[in-house]
Amino acid sequence: MAVLSRVLRLRAAGVDRFAVRSFRSSSWRNSEIDPKAAAASQQLGEKALPLQRDVKDRNVQWVFLGCPGVGKGTYASKLSTLLGVPHIATGDLVRDELSSSGPLAKQLEEVVNQGKLVSDEIIINLLSKRLEASSAKGETGFILDGFPRTIRQAEILEGVTEIDLVINLKLREEALLAKCLGRRICSECGGNYNVASIDIKAEEGDPGMYMSPLLPPPHCASKLISRSDDTEEVVKRRLRIYNEMSQPVEEFYRSRGKLLEFDLPGGIPESWPKLLRALNLEDHDDKQSAAA
Ligand code: ADP
Repeated sequence: MAVLSRVLRLRAAGVDRFAVRSFRSSSWRNSEIDPKAAAASQQLGEKALPLQRDVKDRNVQWVFLGCPGVGKGTYASKLSTLLGVPHIATGDLVRDELSSSGPLAKQLEEVVNQGKLVSDEIIINLLSKRLEASSAKGETGFILDGFPRTIRQAEILEGVTEIDLVINLKLREEALLAKCLGRRICSECGGNYNVASIDIKAEEGDPGMYMSPLLPPPHCASKLISRSDDTEEVVKRRLRIYNEMSQPVEEFYRSRGKLLEFDLPGGIPESWPKLLRALNLEDHDDKQSAAA
């Protein structure tokens, strides 16, 4: 994976050049891939491919897509434990950098608190470092959460490695906002909870939905904090930016036959078994529960 992270960096620099050309191309739109850019991406990717591990020798390389608040982190983390692969969330990498008071912290704070996207260069850099750390531990495979979030990031990733599957989590927008506003994190252990109780009534063909709160254990209850970008104004902006910049990434993977659409039927108790069925992983889960 060290090779992959180095190539990612190089690739980011390479894509810089062709991305500028693509943005100038009259036919290029967010949701369309410029054939020239795709060819350039392919060419650079091919150079990188011999460096890549054969699919048989590695663990899964999956991506989670979905709006802010949909639960990417929750399900990616559960799957990563089940499959024994690292869960790499670029949002967490950004927040780690923010709290490290390193040279990027001030710049990142402004961008994140406005609900905007961090530049591709910074994200690729943080991701490369994380992949290097994974590689040093001998890990293979990954479940990415929050990356790629732009077509350019998807092209960069496609140029360096093969993504096996992209899971697109979907939830009604009214639930997304409530989930972000109810999200709480334990400032001590980092545990994720949610104090929102979501009860959407059924109407005109849309089934109702109930999601019970995910309350913290007593030892975390007095240490709960909210993310600084989980305010109503910033969440609404993040949702707008997702629709504009990240929804085209869904089409990118759909057109490659890699997208698994998954409508969350409710909270974790209803959704997790259904997700495992959709991924053909029920046996895996049974074996793990039996071993536990
Ligand atoms: P969300 O709940 O909006 O999915 P994340 O925890 O994934 O939030 O990300 C938090 C913030 O980190 C984003 O709003 C954005 O500023 C930044 N970020 C995370 N991943 C990326 C990415 N791939 N590209 C650009 N910015 C990112």
